[in-house]
Amino acid sequence: MPELPEVEVVRAGLSRLALGTTINHVRIHHARSVRRNVGDLCVQLDGARIEGVSRRGKYMWLDLDRPYVLMIHLGMSGQIRVNDAPSGHPHVRLNWNVVREGQPRRYFEFLDQRTFGGMQICDRDQDGKPTAISHIARDPFDPLFDVEKFSDALVKRSTQVKRALLDQNLISGIGNIYADECLWRVGLDGTTPCDRLDKAIIVEIVAAVTGVMNEAFDAGGTSFDSLYVNVNGESGYFSRSLSVYGREGEPCGRCGNPIIRNKFMNRSSFHCATCQPPWLLP
Ligand SMILES: [Zn+2]
Repeated sequence: MPELPEVEVVRAGLSRLALGTTINHVRIHHARSVRRNVGDLCVQLDGARIEGVSRRGKYMWLDLDRPYVLMIHLGMSGQIRVNDAPSGHPHVRLNWNVVREGQPRRYFEFLDQRTFGGMQICDRDQDGKPTAISHIARDPFDPLFDVEKFSDALVKRSTQVKRALLDQNLISGIGNIYADECLWRVGLDGTTPCDRLDKAIIVEIVAAVTGVMNEAFDAGGTSFDSLYVNVNGESGYFSRSLSVYGREGEPCGRCGNPIIRNKFMNRSSFHCATCQPPWLLP
């Protein structure tokens, strides 16, 4: 599942290639890749100019010269490519012509093997973001993210810290991988109750999240299989630098003890029991 750094890599790539272009000749090849109003999407997009490519947390959208936006969900396996010629790839679910005055025509393709991703036309809320994600909190890279406000809200949660970090209504963009990586960096067990955290450690958590994600941006995103690629079709390779996620039984890079995997919300959590001692109730 792409997380914030992967989505940001795609957003930045798309912004570079598609900003200022006009969408033409939209073709839908798989109805499941369009959320709501399948028939209207082609009409609503045809002739629309892309004026921005925006993101909040793991959500991305195209700002258009229209009263609405186009939300793009990468789902599990969504990829975006802008090519000089149609690829003819069997996983192309939607495509359009990329038209920019005075330049040769290019081709936008949305590929999605598992079809959990897709696109939808959405109205804007008062901040200009899609109404479908009005409830999504700011991510730590947002210039208006307020660590004080986040800290105040986090300590009021009657849940464990890892669960809270995954709550997109509290802070957005953190998924399972980066939550584990950030907690290892801070030396905090993910089951620690939020009301036991102090502000200093919360500031450390935010710094660790932005630190690990910045490293992922530089590496082009995290990739665990061949399904995630950035807009040019290159795979990200940040998974090589992950410290705990997916490393069960391997030595911890800090203390050498084996990394432990636990079941967590139908998925897995990875941590070092030595560097991240379990929270002990008094
Ligand atoms: Zn360790």
